[in-house]
Amino acid sequence: MILDEILLNNKEFVENFEVVNLSHLPQKKLAIVTCMDTRLVGFLEPALGIERGDAKVIKNAGNNVIDSDVIRSVAAAIFSLGVEEVMLIGHKNCGMANADVNKLKASMIEKGIDPEEIAKVDLKEWIGAIEDEESNVLNGVEKIKNSPLIPETVPIHGLIIDPTTGSLDVLINGYK
Ligand SMILES: [Zn+2]
Repeated sequence: MILDEILLNNKEFVENFEVVNLSHLPQKKLAIVTCMDTRLVGFLEPALGIERGDAKVIKNAGNNVIDSDVIRSVAAAIFSLGVEEVMLIGHKNCGMANADVNKLKASMIEKGIDPEEIAKVDLKEWIGAIEDEESNVLNGVEKIKNSPLIPETVPIHGLIIDPTTGSLDVLINGYK
């Protein structure tokens, strides 16, 4: 059982961990919006030189800015936590690119979700399926930038990372 395994790991971790008191305020005054992709776990931050305490990291499926929740978190980071710059970081080979809506629907039905409920939503839009990783970053940056709740003075950068090599490319330089 994964829960037992995690609890055991945690016990060991706490026993051996030397406590350091970090501020909850991000030392690099940076917020990152990125994907929940498993390959980015423990990988994105070192690839960027980001350490514990440096940045706010907001994750979801496909680093999508499709509802108000990402904007809410970015706004909290800016207005309450001292964030001065935002990076939206997509990644190559994202599972949300060309997500198979029929497969998704079949899986939902198989796991007991009421088909009537499924029929109420545009599945592709609801799950946040993306056309391609680069245009998804460009769109997301536009949505954050155009939000009336985000100050114009905050640079919003758009980047894309290769989850295999860690190589990072700038798609939008928020200073320009
Ligand atoms: Zn992804």
